[in-house]
Amino acid sequence: MTDCLFCRIVRGEIPATRVYEDDEMLAFKDIHPKAAVHLLLIPKKHIATLADAGADDAPLLGRLLARAPQLAREHGAGEGFRTIINTGRDGGQEVYHLHLHILGGQAMPALIKY
Ligand code: AMP
Ligand code: ZN
Repeated sequence: MTDCLFCRIVRGEIPATRVYEDDEMLAFKDIHPKAAVHLLLIPKKHIATLADAGADDAPLLGRLLARAPQLAREHGAGEGFRTIINTGRDGGQEVYHLHLHILGGQAMPALIKY
């Protein structure tokens, strides 16, 4: 058992607007949406960051990524979307349970201007 925020959401101890669930992943709406559509897709297994994922996690991460387009379409981001995984301190990660942001429903601004 872990008191990680997203593990608690997985267990139903903290409410979230769940939009997809199967035996190994869960998607829910971000509580502070940064775009018209902002979903978080997480493995149910606790992996703190992408940097902590092992080779054994590769199939799970692949299935997570493969689920994103369907969720985006279903939630009104069928014209395109942005996926983000923030990793670690310099990556701006706030919740240390690996999660894929799915952002869309609008034209997304340039991420970095060169
Ligand atoms: P990150 O900076 O990549 O770790 O993103 C963490 C995200 O989790 C942020 O976009 C938060 O708005 C979101 N978040 C934090 N707490 C909750 C919660 N209880 N339910 C849904 N989303 C949350
Ligand atoms: Zn966790």
